[in-house]
Amino acid sequence: MNDFIQKELDELAAAGLKRELKDFVPDGSALRGEFRGRRVVNFSSNSYLGLDSHPALKKAAIAALEKWPVGASASRLITGTGPWVKELEERTAAWKKREAALYFGSGYAANVGIIAALADRDTDIFLDKLDHASIVDGAILSRAKIHRYRHNDIADLERLLKRSTAARKLLVTDTIFSMDGDIAPLEDIVGLCRKYEALLIVDEAHASGVYGATGGGLMEERGLAGKAFLEMGTFSKGLGAAGAYVAGDRATIDYLINRARSFIFTTATPPMVCAACAAAIDIVRSDEGTRLRERLQRHIATLRTVVPAAATPIVPIVLGDIPATMARYETLLEKGLLGLPVRPPTVPEGTARLRLSLSAGHTTEEMAALVGALSTIN
Ligand SMILES: *Cc1c(COP(=O)(O)O)cnc(C)c1O
Repeated sequence: MNDFIQKELDELAAAGLKRELKDFVPDGSALRGEFRGRRVVNFSSNSYLGLDSHPALKKAAIAALEKWPVGASASRLITGTGPWVKELEERTAAWKKREAALYFGSGYAANVGIIAALADRDTDIFLDKLDHASIVDGAILSRAKIHRYRHNDIADLERLLKRSTAARKLLVTDTIFSMDGDIAPLEDIVGLCRKYEALLIVDEAHASGVYGATGGGLMEERGLAGKAFLEMGTFSKGLGAAGAYVAGDRATIDYLINRARSFIFTTATPPMVCAACAAAIDIVRSDEGTRLRERLQRHIATLRTVVPAAATPIVPIVLGDIPATMARYETLLEKGLLGLPVRPPTVPEGTARLRLSLSAGHTTEEMAALVGALSTIN
């Protein structure tokens, strides 16, 4: 009866696509640790500002742990709404300059819950071909009709929007794409959504904390703050903690509290995590946040000397061929540099790559080592 399991695993292994969990033991920070028996500098984390091990986040988490329970013990709508999460949501709304914000346990849960709540059978959803899996899953769960436009192709998007006769239209896009590190044409997308009366949700997972004068994300950076119907982002990457926010108008947030099933039917997040998220917001809004963003931009410029296309902290080195990708990965690893390979189905067929991600927490010496290694193997 369960023959299919071994068969499927064997097929994946034969195609070089079998995924395995890899042990990584950080030494204090996510950016360094032990991997396959070797000390490595980690160029595969999403800790773009190095906040994962920031003393202020740890201090806030420890204080909350001492004051409040370890677990929240109930869902938010039962008895899970403590002062720690109300405070976090108020701080998020103030930071994002929106009326209200809602916290979700993860970015995955946020996208699935928000999209499925806002779209129904009579909705047309427009997604970029490279939108994150959580966005696609939310769209599938909503039972709406899904239209996928070519990656960052505004003409293709307009062609699809023009044809739509649905009463409700929803467009969801990453602002920075997680595997390619490129940026969505946000001004054009905002314009098209206005023209065709589509609700726009932007996913700032990789841009939260990392872009904008107060770390609000790429919409802030591009002068488009408040121009999307909803702005979603995560606390798990640049902000170094865990969970996600969605920010928008009060009525829509109230609607999500009533309709987002991944918000309703799950136990609230531990207070210590919420406290760390709130501390992270304070840092990204401060001068320290500005300094960290500037330092990250300098690291990107350094990498550009060997990878000219490097535009954001996510830098793919697309090799296409899976064995070639694996060989590069091993060569880097021998030099103590961890840049994990990404293969289909995470990325489209024929676009296997090393995905490097840079952090303000990397040292100048570590950046020099990366540049040196890439210039000899590229
Ligand atoms: C990582 C990511 C998510 C999911 O966030 P988690 O907090 O890791 O669950 C959602 N959207 C995008 C674009 C992401 O890169």
